[in-house]
Amino acid sequence: MIKVCGSCHSTWAGGRFCEDCGAPLTDPFADEARSLPSTMWRYIRLQYGARRGMLVRVMAILLGPIAAGLTLRAAVARERPWSIVLAIAAAPIGIATWWAIHWMAGRAVRIWVLRKGQLNKRRLARAMARRALR
Ligand SMILES: [Zn+2]
Repeated sequence: MIKVCGSCHSTWAGGRFCEDCGAPLTDPFADEARSLPSTMWRYIRLQYGARRGMLVRVMAILLGPIAAGLTLRAAVARERPWSIVLAIAAAPIGIATWWAIHWMAGRAVRIWVLRKGQLNKRRLARAMARRALR
């Protein structure tokens, strides 16, 4: 859950008070947050977009072995030499499935979230540095 500071416009991953200025944090989906400047909204959208990309990547990790398993099962039902060919292909197919989804998730975040949100790179770098230092 992302929380935002109403007075200095920092974003925080939860918590009740801003660690920068001490003001109480607000929920970006609460009514009082409607008055936040649009740059705040862009940043919030970026955060949630990146998280969505991460979820898709977790899905890729799960779907890769499933694709490999399905290929193996198909291999068992075939006659030789196709059973052997499919069995050998199962691992690369699983890896290719994982990689394709993983790659697409990265592209999707970059295109849809970053471009639409008109990311402020300096602000993001500052936020990441602050997080890394803690
Ligand atoms: Zn603050």
